[in-house]
Amino acid sequence: MANQEAAGFDGVSDRSALQEFSVSNSESFWAAVARQRLSWIRPFHTVQDCDLSRGEIKWFVGGQLNVSVNCLDRHVHTCPERVALIWERDESGSEVKVTYRSLLEMTCRLGNLLRRHGVKRGDCVTIYMPTCPLAVASMLACARIGAAHNVVFAGFSAEALAERIRDAQSGTVITVNQGVRGGKVTELKKTVDTAVQSCPAVQQVFVAMRTENPVAMTARDVAMEEEMLKEDVVCEPAAMDSEDVLFLLYTSGSTGKPKGLVHTQAGYLLYAALTHRYVFSYHDGDVFGCVADIGWITGHSYSVYGPLANGGTTVLFESTPIYPDPGRYWEMVQRLKINQFYGAPTAIRLLLKYGDEWVHKYDRSTLKTLGSVGEPINTEAWEWYHRVVGDGRCPVVDTWWQTETGGICISPRPSDADAEIVPGMAMRPFFSIKPTLMDTEGKVLTSNDVSGALCIAQPWPGMARTIHNNHQRFIETYCRPHPGYFFTGDGAYRSKEGYYQITGRLDDVINVSGHRIGTAEIEDNQCAAVAESAVIGYSHDLKGQGVYAFVVLKNDVEVQGAALCQQLNNMVSKKIAKYACPDFIQVFVQRLPKTRSGKIMRRVLRKVVERDLDGVGDLSTLDDPTAVQEIIQGHGDLC
Ligand code: ATP
Ligand code: MG
Repeated sequence: MANQEAAGFDGVSDRSALQEFSVSNSESFWAAVARQRLSWIRPFHTVQDCDLSRGEIKWFVGGQLNVSVNCLDRHVHTCPERVALIWERDESGSEVKVTYRSLLEMTCRLGNLLRRHGVKRGDCVTIYMPTCPLAVASMLACARIGAAHNVVFAGFSAEALAERIRDAQSGTVITVNQGVRGGKVTELKKTVDTAVQSCPAVQQVFVAMRTENPVAMTARDVAMEEEMLKEDVVCEPAAMDSEDVLFLLYTSGSTGKPKGLVHTQAGYLLYAALTHRYVFSYHDGDVFGCVADIGWITGHSYSVYGPLANGGTTVLFESTPIYPDPGRYWEMVQRLKINQFYGAPTAIRLLLKYGDEWVHKYDRSTLKTLGSVGEPINTEAWEWYHRVVGDGRCPVVDTWWQTETGGICISPRPSDADAEIVPGMAMRPFFSIKPTLMDTEGKVLTSNDVSGALCIAQPWPGMARTIHNNHQRFIETYCRPHPGYFFTGDGAYRSKEGYYQITGRLDDVINVSGHRIGTAEIEDNQCAAVAESAVIGYSHDLKGQGVYAFVVLKNDVEVQGAALCQQLNNMVSKKIAKYACPDFIQVFVQRLPKTRSGKIMRRVLRKVVERDLDGVGDLSTLDDPTAVQEIIQGHGDLC
């Protein structure tokens, strides 16, 4: 935002002054940004009314707006033919472009259809669809009529879907006949049929057609596209209060039972829009390529709401990084002329295994910024992303945030031309974010070169307001551990220079003879043979906990287990200390247990080592159960 934005604030002349201003005058900062960047039906009278210790968060009180108007109508007035969405269908080379005008039409028809079928303001609509324009229109149609949406990743089983429909108390589901991903057809409508058998509240299921294959329809089902054609292209937007619910979304479930986090209208939208613009240095006319599925918060904030609020052009990626081959992302970058690419470390580590040729084959000269999200990105993956994908020319922004935070909270900002970026570090807080590290006694760590529990010391507009139907769990999880602070559940290190690095989840911290070590610190080893690793703590008679490592090798690597273990131990003892060296290394692991959003589930690995799979807890978000079986069978291959 630099000088032009800074000019709006008294005595603020440059970027770092603006950062400081936004932290110490968060209310004035957000009030000005909200007036400037959102289109209001009624202005707010109170900027914020928050009490973090009680979990009471309200922003822009008294204001009214409509999120779909902010994402669509206002751009249709100025540039109706600008492309809003580029749908990168699973079948590569068959992308579909949707202009702002046609996305508004689609949204309005759908809004009218939902209204005709009795969906009212405050109702919750579950969306179980692949990433596609109709899914985005469904989200925006809910926003238009004041209903909340609950997007469920379309890879979840009937049982996981049913649980989320019930928990959300949703009476309406929107789906497609079949999904297509990685060349495979999935029976999404059939999955919904099974799920709703145990969801008595579901009255209706809208079914769009992703493929040409008809599916059996029941009395409850509505043929969506056919019925949309009967609707008017004008749909009166509901005037929503800033704090009305925009959506609920379940977390990835890496650490336990997923939480249905609730986000509201104005604060969320503003935060998504501002972070999208400044973290990625998004400029008008750029093509923004976030490859996350819309079933995750990254898809919500950076495929849909952030880019559309900014009048941007956003790519909707339906496929996988290796379909039809490991060059998919970069071929897409070339074909769609993508300027900002935003993906997950798990995909980067996977592609790195296939070698550089898949990247070099394609022209990536349009790329300006590369983003990473979801897990710590190890140095080797970071370097590869930067050097090979970005030709050493594009800044890599490692963005730390959570479903709970609504948008990016800590990350480098490439628009600061002279700002340093250290590989593998999330670096700096976003405007108004005040990260705070706590020691194990709950005392604030004030110096640099320290590690602790990452908290945020003051509220920001994008933060979640509650856990659906369970405000008590919200308070206990985020507000009670450190009263007056938002507790993130992650650990971080603040360097001598004051930069932040995420060290992993606090649940996963390993305590060896009194030394607390974050998983990311040990996992980030630069061993040429290793594609990916995960470490956990196990109970150890003398040390309290010992380190147990699981290692996935790169393709076609021939190594002797003992030699590799020696190499890994040397690296860990050099980088951290001897005490951090694994006692056990399980080398011949094909893959690690991950959530469907691609995050390593260390709690599952812990239970494998403890041989207590019954006590493993919620597994509904586990991507591929065979990964666990393989590891159990390989439990003997240790060194
Ligand atoms: P659950 O809360 O159900 O266990 P989850 O935490 O995986 O699931 P998300 O909200 O999707 O659900 O993920 C947020 C978490 O992902 C963060 O708390 C952090 O642990 C991790 N994370 C996200 N981005 C980064 C990053 N850039 N560096 C390190 N960790 C990250
Ligand atoms: Mg979490």
